[in-house]
Amino acid sequence: MITSLFDLTGRLALVTGSSRGLGLTLAHGLAEAGADVVLHGRGGPALTEAARAVAESCGRPVGAVTFDVTDAGAVADALSTLVADRGVPDILVNNAGIQRRAPFNEFTTQDWDDVVATNLSSAFYVSRQLTPGMAQRGSGKVINIASVQSMLARQTIAPYSASKGGLVMLTKGMAADLARSGVQVNAISPGYFATEMNRALWTDAAFDAWVTQRTPAQRWGDVSELIGTLVYLASDASSFVSGQNIFVDGGMTSVV
Ligand code: NDP
Repeated sequence: MITSLFDLTGRLALVTGSSRGLGLTLAHGLAEAGADVVLHGRGGPALTEAARAVAESCGRPVGAVTFDVTDAGAVADALSTLVADRGVPDILVNNAGIQRRAPFNEFTTQDWDDVVATNLSSAFYVSRQLTPGMAQRGSGKVINIASVQSMLARQTIAPYSASKGGLVMLTKGMAADLARSGVQVNAISPGYFATEMNRALWTDAAFDAWVTQRTPAQRWGDVSELIGTLVYLASDASSFVSGQNIFVDGGMTSVV
């Protein structure tokens, strides 16, 4: 059956930044496709509630790990424990991310460091803990959540655009080194999806109108519309796909 190509039954998946927003919906999607999901965040009630909700909807236990993705030592400690307890994940989704908005000349060193560490260095820290085990096993799927801003800049978010452009090139660099070991590394670049991170945008009538007009689909994305592309990249259906960046943006990056 062709649908078995997309079946993730028995695959272990870690989704960073899955206490809410895109990451949580993506974790739901992987669990629905059969994966055993491990959620992640910095801890607190949102993560606990997210794990409970995913477990309830998929009917299987759901794990949760806590660490700050910008702290290389904490990442190493937490993932060593995860691998010892559960084995090397089959699927890693590097999704954790933040946004900071300011005119370019007002960004501080701290802003720059925070954005680059959370959106770009994190994917390096997390991936390097898991891809050696994936390579040893001969299989693994790493999916980095980038953005339309990996290709198109916009006022007030220069550090974010730089971090996402870097994440796409990290995707290609990792694919170059790891594809021969059976580890596939790809990226998804979402357009505009209403989440906590961009509350300032979807609550602004003028910005809302701009997104609607600028997007050929004439609307914001629904977060669930990212699941199909993720399941494809996480499954056997994409067995010869490496180093790609798939835009899920209602056509935004195809037009001026
Ligand atoms: P949210 O703010 O809703 O969620 C961010 C997630 O990242 C939370 O789970 C948060 O966990 C986690 N996180 C943030 N910083 C850290 C950290 N230092 N250590 C560990 N976890 C951290 O954002 P979105 O869901 O909107 O965004 C998710 C990803 O999707 C980001 O990479 C973003 O750039 C990307 N994206 C989003 C788009 C959109 O339209 N929303 C469009 C394009 C890309 P907690 O706070 O619980 O620790």
